[in-house]
Amino acid sequence: MTIPPSIITLDGPAASGKSTIGRKLADELGYLFFDTGIMYRAVTWIALQHDMDLHDEEAITQMAQTAQIDIRPASKNDGRFCDVLLGDKDVTWDMRSSEVEASVSLVSAYAGVRKALSDKQRQIGLRGKVVMVGRDIGTVVLPEADLKIYLDASAEERAKRRYDEIIARGEKADYDEILKKMIERDHIDSTRAVAPLRPADDAVIINTDIPSAEQVFEQVLALCK
Ligand code: C5P
Repeated sequence: MTIPPSIITLDGPAASGKSTIGRKLADELGYLFFDTGIMYRAVTWIALQHDMDLHDEEAITQMAQTAQIDIRPASKNDGRFCDVLLGDKDVTWDMRSSEVEASVSLVSAYAGVRKALSDKQRQIGLRGKVVMVGRDIGTVVLPEADLKIYLDASAEERAKRRYDEIIARGEKADYDEILKKMIERDHIDSTRAVAPLRPADDAVIINTDIPSAEQVFEQVLALCK
């Protein structure tokens, strides 16, 4: 039997299938699934809750260095991949709010915020047996990873997936607005000075526009074996 790679990174733009594929892969291999986007979302959410000036890089960085963000196995079967706790408050769905989505790329472009969060991510990732999902995991956080995958898809397809997810939760959604915001967020993520969104030179790039999630998963699993 071949031993699967121990450190697996999964990068790509919003709604490219990273969480769905990453979580399934981690379950299959008995690995930890770690979605780093949650950490950037949590810092953004705390800043919004405390009415902080989102352009005050120093204050936001200080807060990111001390924020107690806890990520635990899902305690409810409501579509969540995990519980996100701040203190003893369950803020899992607050992380997905449109307010957080509108500001997370601004906050995650700050070098100090990135350093604080990626140091923690690296520490956890180096323990191995991990599928870590994000934008810069293969390039910056864990460049020594054994297997690097970059999932991509058109903005239209990704916006449709996000739209369907919101509708499935029983909430209202506007496809054109989601598409516009997604393109904006991808633009900021891929043009920022520090750790921009891009595939690592040694990443396997998979386009998820056409294949089903099941087919993409099979492809990713084959790479592990
Ligand atoms: O993956 P998700 O959509 O939850 O990520 C939210 C935001 O967090 C991204 O748009 C990006 O700005 C930031 N992020 C990042 N680096 C990561 C993961 C997420 O900059 N490794």
